[in-house]
Amino acid sequence: MPDTAIPVIPTVPVTPAVLDGLRAIVGDKGLILDDQGKEPFVRDWRGSLIGTAAVVVRPANTEEVSKVVKLCFDNGIAIVPQGGNTGLMGGATPWPTHSGIVLSLGRMNKVIEVDPVGYSMTVEAGCVLQTLQETAASHDRFFPLSLGAQGSCMIGGNLSTNAGGVQVLRYGNARNLVLGLEVVQPNGEVWNGLRSLKKDNTGYDLKHLFMGAEGTLGVITKAVLKLWPAPKDAATAWLAIRDPQAAIEILSEAYAASEDNVGSCELMSRAATDMVLRHIPGVQDPIKADTPWFLLLEWSSSRPKSDGAEGMSEKMEQFLADQMEAGRVLDAVIGQNEAQARNMWRIREAVAEASRAEGPGLSYDISVSISKIPDFIDKGITAALDILPSIRPYPLGHIGRHRHRQDRRAGALPFPDRARHDALAEARARPEEHHEPRQDPPPVMRHDDSLSVLSAASAGERAYDPDKR
Ligand SMILES: Cc1cc2nc3c(=O)[nH]c(=O)nc-3n(C[C@H](O)[C@H](O)[C@H](O)COP(=O)(O)OP(=O)(O)OC[C@H]3O[C@@H](n4cnc5c(N)ncnc54)[C@H](O)[C@@H]3O)c2cc1C
Repeated sequence: MPDTAIPVIPTVPVTPAVLDGLRAIVGDKGLILDDQGKEPFVRDWRGSLIGTAAVVVRPANTEEVSKVVKLCFDNGIAIVPQGGNTGLMGGATPWPTHSGIVLSLGRMNKVIEVDPVGYSMTVEAGCVLQTLQETAASHDRFFPLSLGAQGSCMIGGNLSTNAGGVQVLRYGNARNLVLGLEVVQPNGEVWNGLRSLKKDNTGYDLKHLFMGAEGTLGVITKAVLKLWPAPKDAATAWLAIRDPQAAIEILSEAYAASEDNVGSCELMSRAATDMVLRHIPGVQDPIKADTPWFLLLEWSSSRPKSDGAEGMSEKMEQFLADQMEAGRVLDAVIGQNEAQARNMWRIREAVAEASRAEGPGLSYDISVSISKIPDFIDKGITAALDILPSIRPYPLGHIGRHRHRQDRRAGALPFPDRARHDALAEARARPEEHHEPRQDPPPVMRHDDSLSVLSAASAGERAYDPDKR
């Protein structure tokens, strides 16, 4: 018989004395104790993982976070940091046996400063991503992180998962969008790395330890984010394409044709597109083409189109005609207005929402070298179907940063991990943790483990720097 015992995260229960201590720090409005109030904080976005917590603590500023973390540190209480709780793999959702706390950053939602001239903004970790995009736009600047959950995910969560999003091709993952961080360490001490230098070659770049760490090394409380010039001329197209090989060839030629203005390139299968059309009201099919593969391509430039000159649309039109002649593109439509472009993006961004409506499924987010994507898709699908013939694969993903994602729906059946591992090994690919379904307890801030990583970093620094000994 397999061992079905639920793993336990070491933590000491929250005693009445600790609860009084928490109340003294955050006040009654910073504590959620009743089951109904805690429910959105202990259930994951898909509604499939449900955990528990003694209390949800909602501090209002860094000082309160620091005191809460110190109190938990002194009493051996495990902390699950949480932003918007949209992380898809249950990292922010407490485990069913969790008797520690959930630390929600949602009340820390202030934009502290926007510096349009220096192309940066300083924000608190609980700011909702979409608010930050809008704040940047209101200063004629662009904050490029963009993903389906942007209306509810928070920047602290984005950085802690090192999120990618649909602009990853051009701007990189979340860690590339950060100049500085403020972090509360596992013992409650505040690490102030809130710098806004574009060039900073002074010693270790410790901020990168915290991005992608999923809260295991500390709680991100503030960030200085990079901004870019706002796009002034953009073209968005939906392409029916021959196959995934055509997709990577199209992208490879698009760089020069767009004069290095490729913003996004998203491969969508017919199956994933149809799933969105089935479940998301108001979305239109841009092309009624008989092909299993589509590509969403966006080019954008910060230079406004001047009268009579060729803009992004004209350049893209010529490019698509060339690609049709080469047999890679079967049909294509360029969005003629904001609404048509938005509709194309809605199809891509609503995949997670549609997949939730479709029912139970398994989602794997896997990075593969660009040239290996077509082969990986073929072999991955074949291997999965060999093991589970009833599985319905919905492949999709960003092309360009070695990335491709496969959603597979198989009712309540377990995903054939053997197939996945074989395919990964062959393609030398790596899974992206933030979309992997959770098998083990979520990462929590384990004070001692986390401190030892941090102290190893500072011990290394001290060993080489006599002033710091
Ligand atoms: C519809 C949808 C589309 C998505 N699309 C994409 C996509 O295109 N690309 C992509 O990369 N991801 C995508 N995601 C997943 C994405 O990673 C998350 O939505 C987002 O980045 C997480 O932010 P959050 O605030 O919800 O974090 P949470 O889910 O609350 O937390 C995520 C992890 O970070 C930790 N954490 C949260 N806040 C902090 C903090 N302040 N300090 C320390 N640790 C913290 C948590 O403990 C947890 O481990 C999508 C999710 C959804 C629901």
